[in-house]
Amino acid sequence: TGPVPADIEIAEAADLLPVVDLARDRLGIAAEHLLPYGHTKAKIALEHVRSLEGRPEGALVLVTAISPTPAGEGKTTTSVGLADALSRLGERTVVALREPSMGPVFGIKGGAAGGGYAQVVPMADINLNFTGDFAAVAAAHNLLSAVLDNHLHHGNELDVDPRTITWKRVVDLNDRALREVVVGLGGPTNGVPREDGFDIVVASEVMAILCLATSVADLRERLGAIVVGYTRGREPVRARDLQVHGAMTAILKDALAPNLVQTLEHTPALVHGGPFANIAHGCNSVVATRTALRLADYVVTEAGFGADLGAEKFVDITCRASGLRPAAVVVVATVRALKYHGGVEVADLATESLEALAAGMANLRRHLANVREVYGLPAVVALNRFPSDTDAEVAEVGRLVEAEGVRCYEATHFAEGGRGAEALARGVLEVIEAAEADMQLVYPDDAPLARKAEAVATRVYGAAAVTFEPRAARRLAAIEAEGYGHLPVCIAKTQSSFSTDPSLRGAPEGHTVTVREVRLSAGAGFVVLVTGEIMTMPGLPKVPASTRIDVDDDGRIVGLS
Ligand code: ADP
Ligand code: MG
Repeated sequence: TGPVPADIEIAEAADLLPVVDLARDRLGIAAEHLLPYGHTKAKIALEHVRSLEGRPEGALVLVTAISPTPAGEGKTTTSVGLADALSRLGERTVVALREPSMGPVFGIKGGAAGGGYAQVVPMADINLNFTGDFAAVAAAHNLLSAVLDNHLHHGNELDVDPRTITWKRVVDLNDRALREVVVGLGGPTNGVPREDGFDIVVASEVMAILCLATSVADLRERLGAIVVGYTRGREPVRARDLQVHGAMTAILKDALAPNLVQTLEHTPALVHGGPFANIAHGCNSVVATRTALRLADYVVTEAGFGADLGAEKFVDITCRASGLRPAAVVVVATVRALKYHGGVEVADLATESLEALAAGMANLRRHLANVREVYGLPAVVALNRFPSDTDAEVAEVGRLVEAEGVRCYEATHFAEGGRGAEALARGVLEVIEAAEADMQLVYPDDAPLARKAEAVATRVYGAAAVTFEPRAARRLAAIEAEGYGHLPVCIAKTQSSFSTDPSLRGAPEGHTVTVREVRLSAGAGFVVLVTGEIMTMPGLPKVPASTRIDVDDDGRIVGLS
């Protein structure tokens, strides 16, 4: 077998089923219940989504990973490969994924629709604009910003203190120049000057709300509950106080309907919503996952970053709020990433080192213990094989993982499609069969917010303690006094380490987690605790991926990866 062609080449050569046929033959959904966007993408009408309520639900498989490294792990790719493998074994399967943001598409990471022979298609469409959901999120978010500034301009009847406004603006691009701006310049007709800033769309609370809302009514309620700032009397100012949540709901009504596409092997895929996994909860919409569970016997879904971030939030935020319960967890690891955690530098990752693998295993071991003992979920490991991995290294990972009492499956879906993940798929079916999952929340609703943070830090991160900088402690107390103490916490931490220091690889312990900032996401329903430097508006690298992306003379997009 030769080298795997570029993602976009594989995707462009794919033979796609018309989405109407896919829906009818694979999901039993008639064309009248689809809102087609061209021939290979469609939204499933919300009325149809509602009509599925009460149907028995399939088993949910959560795909997570070790702590991300520059070497790449492959959660999306493995989710797609696993779903295709389950389909090949004759199981009715749907994969539910996040929609890619255009920021990373033009930055370093590239697209987020899988890779190699494990992709969702139409790949270029999914990565660029797709069905317009992110544009709708941006418009709804920015409408609230515009209405708020308009309120200040027209006399500020609510007595909003402009210095307390936390609601920024958003755009779906990496643009560091927009991180801090001043709005309202140019004289009295242009509004009230104040400091403002932009976040990327995936960091918008509206994105998190779209992904947690269970109906249009719930969406409207959550949008109304957004707190944008405070009055001079220190009362929260909500979107509903500005009477804008109805219009925001109108903008988002179609965006709430899940998007149906397919994998390269024609497994149905619901690709819907895409919140960050640090300042938000990091998984596709609850509507998409629930819909998938009612349409299939097995649903594979991905949580962002490592199992300390995405999977913890899946349990403590998504599952707590929605009642979803995974039947099993797949933890993705790679030889390269394990060696990186064992101290090898990026340039040397292709060189065999069983010692570094054994050292890096500390990271995977901690994640496995968390998934099994803290979240109470059965786990298997998917070893996502890269071309540079040696057979000795692959065997060594298998041995180390099995020593933990966990099954490890080498998976070659990137090079071979679903066929390469059949052993993994059988292993997932076995673990679901063998063990009754008994998911545990990391902390109860009624614990004080600081105790919740402590529970995650000590039980999941291996930390000794949590401290709050004075400003953060005051804000936390204020949020509790306002009646938000029952909400779960959403800890924004570097994805690169169990600690708050991205350079500490492996499984650091005894560290202190310092919370610098506290943000209330009252509509989404969580309190964000910011540790370290968390970037909510990324920048572009010196040579961005946008320099390679183009359209050829036949109108085909090239250079996407
Ligand atoms: P994640 O979802 O964990 O961020 P992705 O599945 O998006 O990871 O993969 C990250 C990058 O690594 C993508 O560019 C993907 O094409 C690449 N990749 C994943 N698995 C492999 C593999 N087995 N061999 C080569 N490249 C891979
Ligand atoms: Mg991914």
